[in-house]
Amino acid sequence: MRYMFIGAHPDDADLMIGGTALKAIKAGHHVKFVSASNGDRGHQSMPSPELAVRRYNEAQKSAALAGLDEYEILDIHDCALEVTLENRERFIRVIRRFAPDVIVTHRPCDYHADHRAVAQLVQDCAYLLMVPLYCPDVPIPDVNPVFAYAYDRFTKPTPVQADAVVEIDSVMEEKFHMLDCHVSQFYEWLPVTKGLKDFSAEGWTWEQKRAHLDEHWGSRFKTIAEYAQVQLQKRYGHSVQYAELFEYSPYGRNVTLEEFQELFPF
Ligand SMILES: [Zn+2]
Repeated sequence: MRYMFIGAHPDDADLMIGGTALKAIKAGHHVKFVSASNGDRGHQSMPSPELAVRRYNEAQKSAALAGLDEYEILDIHDCALEVTLENRERFIRVIRRFAPDVIVTHRPCDYHADHRAVAQLVQDCAYLLMVPLYCPDVPIPDVNPVFAYAYDRFTKPTPVQADAVVEIDSVMEEKFHMLDCHVSQFYEWLPVTKGLKDFSAEGWTWEQKRAHLDEHWGSRFKTIAEYAQVQLQKRYGHSVQYAELFEYSPYGRNVTLEEFQELFPF
């Protein structure tokens, strides 16, 4: 199986489906992450060109740690992603070249304008991917992928559905290490956005870093596990502390919800 996550920024994939990616790779599947923007505006003080290089390197470190096939970062400015014909064609080519069985992305109702643009672009590709005269320089894949959304907390127009669930307790430590690669985000920029004034993680031990990551980001995967505990119990035969979920998108290859869960067989 070939799994592709298309996010807007070079840490979205790690955070949203890092655990599932780790489990898929351990089971011998191929995983590619794509960041549609270079992330060059997600910082309180670092100049954009330096930040883009730094974030590229952070993403590559995480990719190596997880064993991804590739972590591709497109050269589009952060906070400037738009649903344009040019970007649509770019996405078509990126997707066709990897030929994924499953594509996961943001929902179109997410909080960040870049996330919404990516969601729309991916949705626009879902049909056009299989049109041979569109971007004919890259051949259409043999299989039309199944499209899915990862977790978000937004409830309008609808809360995210747990159409497929994956326990990630068994890989949570490694997922924290993936997040730990994104120093500019999890220890610098994002704490500021959370109102943590004068925040500094300098000189922290791994235990302190892990506790920080768990408190501010691990909690959402505990929320998912609580939300989908009945499904998780049924699937794994025991209670689960951390989980990731996937909502089925009807815009790609059609599968039943049972078949959809089977696309995440780990
Ligand atoms: Zn993002």
